[in-house]
Amino acid sequence: MKAIRRFTVRTVLPDNLSALDELASNLRWSWHQPTLELFRDIAPETWDEQGKDPIGLLGEIAASRLAELSADEAFVGRANALRDELRDYLSAPRWFQSLEGEVPGTIAYFSPEFGIAAALPQYSGGLGILAGDHLKTASDLGVPIVGVGLFYRAGYFRQSISRDGWQEESYPVLDPDGLPMRVLRYPDGSAAHVVLALPEGRALHARIWQLAVGRVTLLLLDTDVQENGEELRGVTDRLYGGGGEHRLLQELLLGIGGARAVKTYTSLAGIPAPQVFHTNEGHAGFLGLERVSDLIGNGLTFDEALQAVRAGTVFTTHTPVPAGIDRFEASLVRRYFSTELLPGVDVDDVLALGAEPDGMNAGAPDAFNMAVMGLRLAQRANGVSKLHGDVSRHMFGALWPGFDADDVPIGSITNGVHAPTWVDPTVSAVAASRLGTSDTTVADWASAAVSDAELWAMRGRLRSQLVADARRRTSAAWAEENPGVGDPSWFGSLLDPQILTIGFARRVPTYKRLTLMLHDPQRLRALLTHPERPVQIVIAGKSHPADDEGKRLIQRLVEFSQEVDVRERIHFLPNYDIGMAQLLYPGTDVWLNNPLRPLEACGTSGMKAALNGSLNLSILDGWWNEYYDEEDGWAIPSADSAGDGAERDALEAASMYDLIEHQIAPTFYDRGADGVPTRWVAHIRHTLATLSPELSATRMVREYVEQLYLPAAAAERAISAKSYQPARELAAWKARVVAAWPGVHVTHVESGGVDAVPQVGEQLQVRAFVQLGGLSPDDLAVELVYGRARDGDELAEVRTIELELDSVDAVSSPAALATYAGTVALDRSGSFGYTVRVVPRHALLASPAELGLTAVA
Ligand SMILES: *Cc1c(COP(=O)(O)O)cnc(C)c1O
Repeated sequence: MKAIRRFTVRTVLPDNLSALDELASNLRWSWHQPTLELFRDIAPETWDEQGKDPIGLLGEIAASRLAELSADEAFVGRANALRDELRDYLSAPRWFQSLEGEVPGTIAYFSPEFGIAAALPQYSGGLGILAGDHLKTASDLGVPIVGVGLFYRAGYFRQSISRDGWQEESYPVLDPDGLPMRVLRYPDGSAAHVVLALPEGRALHARIWQLAVGRVTLLLLDTDVQENGEELRGVTDRLYGGGGEHRLLQELLLGIGGARAVKTYTSLAGIPAPQVFHTNEGHAGFLGLERVSDLIGNGLTFDEALQAVRAGTVFTTHTPVPAGIDRFEASLVRRYFSTELLPGVDVDDVLALGAEPDGMNAGAPDAFNMAVMGLRLAQRANGVSKLHGDVSRHMFGALWPGFDADDVPIGSITNGVHAPTWVDPTVSAVAASRLGTSDTTVADWASAAVSDAELWAMRGRLRSQLVADARRRTSAAWAEENPGVGDPSWFGSLLDPQILTIGFARRVPTYKRLTLMLHDPQRLRALLTHPERPVQIVIAGKSHPADDEGKRLIQRLVEFSQEVDVRERIHFLPNYDIGMAQLLYPGTDVWLNNPLRPLEACGTSGMKAALNGSLNLSILDGWWNEYYDEEDGWAIPSADSAGDGAERDALEAASMYDLIEHQIAPTFYDRGADGVPTRWVAHIRHTLATLSPELSATRMVREYVEQLYLPAAAAERAISAKSYQPARELAAWKARVVAAWPGVHVTHVESGGVDAVPQVGEQLQVRAFVQLGGLSPDDLAVELVYGRARDGDELAEVRTIELELDSVDAVSSPAALATYAGTVALDRSGSFGYTVRVVPRHALLASPAELGLTAVA
């Protein structure tokens, strides 16, 4: 029998244990080891059964055990000390508080998913975990972020695998009362609400849950409230559950509702309204329109408001895979915006923001593209690794016509991971006892203070822990699928804590190639059953519920792993989540990643593995393309020149087998007299020493602050000064420049100063004649663009210098000519090429490409 509704009755704690309540209600516990240990020690078995969830644990504890703890002075003292430590963590100044100059008071961070703890399944994969890590790190650094997302009643699905290997989904409904969150309320005690006007006079209501992630507040909007009819209550039912209209409703709520929720929250909390809005992927893009609507209410036009909104908005694109980018039918968007939803905003202006530019159209001219809108609403944008930045500049280049991909204003900040969440306590304990700090990202792993034997023993403990966890999960899954039937006897020898262990876990979209390892089943079998140097593989991953192709891939793997001769050596673990991941990454010797390059924007699971001394074996994609250095793992060469996908798979799979057989396994099993594989341990040490600081989210969040948040806050301050006068001027200036631009030309370029046979050291003098089209010389910059000339006269290694205005005729005439001059030193030999271009110039532009206007000689 199933309950139709459930709720959690909270335990009444003895007075002297009230610290437990305070500790449980701030998600800091999810990355604070001493607090986790405190809760575990209350009842270790229940702790595991409850999925390491303090509130779940407290709900299950018998009154007698509580009485016992209440009488235990040492325990009470420990709880109180941790509570005091938490209070201090929440109030003491941190890195951000030491920054000089004007800093933003609040930064709003929007994401459709947040992965913070296994007990809060509000994530599906990398994007959500990254968002969770971003908030946790912002908390550690004191960055004043407010997170904004949706509260999904059933989160993402729970995966089980049927006997014939088919993925089955279930959607256990979450009970908000059993989670560390509370409703945001007005001073009179009533629940704060956001309301969105919908077509046909309907309205969507949502309440706002408030979660404490250390110092950071996370707001999650929830439509399961009485004011909504049955259908609208379901808007926040599941993460990525529906398509079309359901998804649009979720995104309207996330963007517009989210922006309203932050406004309500900051005013109730008495903190500054956000100056910077960071939107992750296109999903939350409508937030910019809500802010435009607000400013229109303050008397600005749409174009003026747009300038102000762009100044304070940062857009991060997280995937180059088309399926990861939301596109809606324009007619649907038109219907939803032809309402009172956004007062003052014309629906045609909305549609123009999401229209795909010429050259980017993937065959649906009527598509409304959320990423394109996101880029148009943000003055600053980035990808999530260097390679992904480059891929994104090409992918979205059509938004800045006339500019080379290199000039497209999309930068990159490589992702990082939150070490306190992802580094196993075993590893931090070694750092603490030998290297004088439990922060593994600053510990000196190169130091001889930790011996090879100790590092190797540490890795052995992590591997054993994974094997034990895999057996436990496998038994539990068996018991669920086969009630009353005991475990098959071979479960006792499932995986071996001594064998080279390869891990592979991820969502299952096609580009990640879950089954590449099965390309040649006989070769795989030989690796698994090798008499001296066997390998074992642990696999996990969820397929999107609507993706039968992905489910078939899982099924193929499961079927293979059931074959009698390999079943102890290759194993699929159902229900990949944060809890499993925290043991899986550290426990594997080699973390495998074989995406189709360059579709993995960054990939973070391999980073989490590396922070625990696991070595990566990966295609040179995402972060690995940037950090592979021959000592920290192995690179699978991409067969970019392969004739087709099948050939490419064959070549890349063969390289992978070769690396495992001829390099990885021999190094792992090459033991000294003491049983330590010295060469392998050297790789571990190098990985920990060089990658730990680089892959830490501390590096990432600092880069966001320094490269994006602070400049965006400064731009927002500048443009909103004097009641938005600069925004009005910028809008008027842009309109004038766009109108005049067809009349701007480089009519003629002269050069001199070099001999017939130019030599290194000579100065090339360039003079350009530019027709201003009625603009003033102040409105534009004339640049000499030069570099190596390649075939077809393409410039490479491009550099730019600005030419100086030399003379100008009567400016007011559209035909007026201005001359510009400058010199460039020929500082290297070889082919040289140059051209001259004109670009708009204004102090409030963040990039010369911003308007997508240029005139080239
Ligand atoms: C880190 C993580 C991911 C993302 O890993 P990728 O390498 O980006 O695929 C997905 N799921 C969980 C549970 C994770 O911890």
